[in-house]
Amino acid sequence: MNGIEHWDVVVIGSGPAGQKAAVQAAKANRRVCVIEREVGIGGACVHRGTIPSKTLRETALLISSLKSRIGKHVKLDLPPDLQLASLMDRMERVVTAHVDYQGKQMLRNGIEQVHGRARFLDPHTIVVDGIRGDRRQLRAETIVIATGSRPRTPDGVPIDHEHVYDSDSILSMAYLPRSLTVLGGGVIASEYATIFASLGVAVTMIDRAPRPLSFLDGEILDRFVESFESWPGCTFVGGATVNEVVWDGVGEVVTTLDNGWHVRSEKLLCALGRVANVEGLAIDKAGLATNKRGHLTVDTDCRTEVPHIFAVGDVIGPPSLASASMEQGRRAMRAALSLPLGHEVDLIPAGIYTLPEIATVGKSAAELQAAGKVCLVGRAQFKELARGQISGNENGMLKLVVDPETRRILGCQVIGEGATELVHLAQVAMIQGSPVDLFVDNIFNFPTLAEAYRVAALDLYEQQAADVPTASGS
Ligand SMILES: Cc1cc2nc3c(=O)[nH]c(=O)nc-3n(C[C@H](O)[C@H](O)[C@H](O)COP(=O)(O)OP(=O)(O)OC[C@H]3O[C@@H](n4cnc5c(N)ncnc54)[C@H](O)[C@@H]3O)c2cc1C
Repeated sequence: MNGIEHWDVVVIGSGPAGQKAAVQAAKANRRVCVIEREVGIGGACVHRGTIPSKTLRETALLISSLKSRIGKHVKLDLPPDLQLASLMDRMERVVTAHVDYQGKQMLRNGIEQVHGRARFLDPHTIVVDGIRGDRRQLRAETIVIATGSRPRTPDGVPIDHEHVYDSDSILSMAYLPRSLTVLGGGVIASEYATIFASLGVAVTMIDRAPRPLSFLDGEILDRFVESFESWPGCTFVGGATVNEVVWDGVGEVVTTLDNGWHVRSEKLLCALGRVANVEGLAIDKAGLATNKRGHLTVDTDCRTEVPHIFAVGDVIGPPSLASASMEQGRRAMRAALSLPLGHEVDLIPAGIYTLPEIATVGKSAAELQAAGKVCLVGRAQFKELARGQISGNENGMLKLVVDPETRRILGCQVIGEGATELVHLAQVAMIQGSPVDLFVDNIFNFPTLAEAYRVAALDLYEQQAADVPTASGS
């Protein structure tokens, strides 16, 4: 090992959180290095999470849209021995393009990349063990922990990455299976369940909660479950505890539930949450410890209890989104460098890339009601929109939740293709504090799905004209 290197800022982890923290520091003329243990930069987001799953989703969407539009006239059955890789032809290109772009951005900003596994020696010093046995010691004024998360492996689920997968290994599956059991009812479980369902795989989702995605608005959720269960062989089993998962050694994974049911499938995906990557970091040497949930605790600027150490991204827990992680990285570094922070971002939209897509921003009617607040809910069904009919996107719905007094928008929930894009219109209107009338007083392109805003606003007008009571529920 050579002497100790001195840096202004050291960032551990090159995912979205670490990347944005490093770029922010470099833009403020600090000497920055980013330590990454994997060969490629970009983190779980680029290599195992957001980008790969969304690339497969895009293909699944294309196939299911084609089937629903012209399947009656053209035979569109997928071959029984279809390789999964052939559905992700573009993935390699998408990932490479992303890594390339991020690498160039780091180079352009003079950020040094150090490849190896980082651990604390003391609160200001980090040791990096390189893959060739080389070792470096880095000392920094400011340290950012952006080490992300990995899938949780519950006891009794024998993940072998051949028959029983987790969300990091599922896309390494060689062939598209005929049947798949998905353990979990969260975002990752629901996204993969619907992607595989739309590709013709019989999917059984199993979760302890009575319904998947239980944080969602009830009406949107009903539509999601109905849509999932309309695919042949697909079902959601709620309120169930898994006693055992066994590969039978022949051709099936057998999942035994506490009610005595046996669910048999060719493959199984375990998506029962994620845990923070802190093992091997020796955070105790930095004076840190994890909280009850295994995450690092931070304040609103992502500062840990050790003032010069910040933690950002999945390692600090929910919302565990790439979008939020980037903002946390930027904010933490601005706080560290005493730069103006801007207003605190508390209006984070959620995008769930199921088929159909779901997105929300702000509050739902049920949340407001639970807090004793009144609201009005305007609805637009995509089947009433010309663009919804043309695109075969008739299952969608947009809900606008509005304050009856101020007419300001308090929340928006959307289900249907385009939901994750559409929701930003409501987000911007909410940030600006615009009244819902904005959507009636202005002209929208025709035909578009964005017209749903006008239809939902007009629905509110009608309710008010008819004197429909407020707090109209979910
Ligand atoms: C299947 C899936 C789909 C997802 N879809 C979406 C989506 O659609 N939209 C969205 O916003 N989010 C999505 N997410 C979540 C998103 O990927 C994460 O929130 C995001 O990647 C977190 O960023 P991060 O920088 O905190 O961590 P990561 O991206 O996990 O990066 C952390 C990096 O730190 C490195 N590291 C860890 N320990 C060390 C160490 N000791 N030394 C050196 N390096 C280390 C790791 O190798 C890794 O590269 C998805 C996640 C999954 C799993």
